[in-house]
Amino acid sequence: MIMEVTIFDKILSGEIPSNKVYEDEDVLAFHDVNPQAPIHVLVIPKKKVATFTELKDRPTIDSGVLFQKTALIADKLGLDDEGYRIVVNCGENGNQEVAYLHAHILGGRKLTWPPG
Ligand code: 5GP
Repeated sequence: MIMEVTIFDKILSGEIPSNKVYEDEDVLAFHDVNPQAPIHVLVIPKKKVATFTELKDRPTIDSGVLFQKTALIADKLGLDDEGYRIVVNCGENGNQEVAYLHAHILGGRKLTWPPG
């Protein structure tokens, strides 16, 4: 499978700088350049997946680890007491801009529902 090289690949390789909040063997987390909430952090798996839809064909990708690490990072950001939202945009209708699977952590304000 040929995957386009995205801005997140370049952040992961260090080619493009980011405001990093957490990194380990599984994930990298950094502040979104265009935050939609007082806290807006993106979490990417180091093993690349382009979109959420691909997870159904990629049993070797441990999406549970991505969720567990995202919960850990949200706690480190001090969001556990007030709560927060995890968003994974998928494809055109989901408004996914970057073709590298990522979880948005949004917090620090009361978020509205339904989302726009
Ligand atoms: P998507 O719409 O794909 O779910 O979200 C992509 C997110 O990446 C957007 O919230 C956008 O602001 C963020 N983003 C795009 N380019 C960069 C960048 O170069 N650095 C950082 N930190 N975030 C970016």
